[in-house]
Amino acid sequence: MDEISKLMIEQLKDAHSAEKQALRAMQKMAKQATNEKLKQGIQMHMEQTEGQIERLEQGLERLGGKPGRKVCEAMRGLVEEANHEMGENDKGAMMDVVLIAAAQRIEHYEIAAYGTMATLAKSAGQQELARLLGETLAEEKRMDEELTRIAESEVNRTWIEECRAEEQEMESANENRRGGARRKAS
Ligand code: FE
Ligand code: FE
Ligand code: FE
Repeated sequence: MDEISKLMIEQLKDAHSAEKQALRAMQKMAKQATNEKLKQGIQMHMEQTEGQIERLEQGLERLGGKPGRKVCEAMRGLVEEANHEMGENDKGAMMDVVLIAAAQRIEHYEIAAYGTMATLAKSAGQQELARLLGETLAEEKRMDEELTRIAESEVNRTWIEECRAEEQEMESANENRRGGARRKAS
């Protein structure tokens, strides 16, 4: 097997491991999400991910490789962080913000990986492989944009409003206490 195919196989195997890990992480993340759009967005991307895994298997087959036991260490770290964050928070507005933060980190890693792989495939004259990788790349980019939209339109606002309402409650409780003390002094 030539050197170029060997390297591309290693990259595809890494992405295959990354997608499998991401799929398991998204299962947990969807359960922790409160916002309906966020939950549905993650579930929709889980379905896409199954297709992405298939594309990677097709790509590997074209090059004469197979998935194997390679573990994507970067995705392992990203998933570890996500799990840690999920353990630190209860379900609710803040958890949703944290879920988007973790999910976008995962998407950005995938965008980097597929962008590079698609370019390499194209450079090597592997048009069909480049097309498969390009399809997945577009899905990852759309997911990243969708997460930004959900953050801007709902999740961030809900959490920030919740925080401000809490601050205001504390402030008025303090004022009542001070007022009570003044009345006692007079
Ligand atoms: Fe993916
Ligand atoms: Fe990796
Ligand atoms: Fe993704």
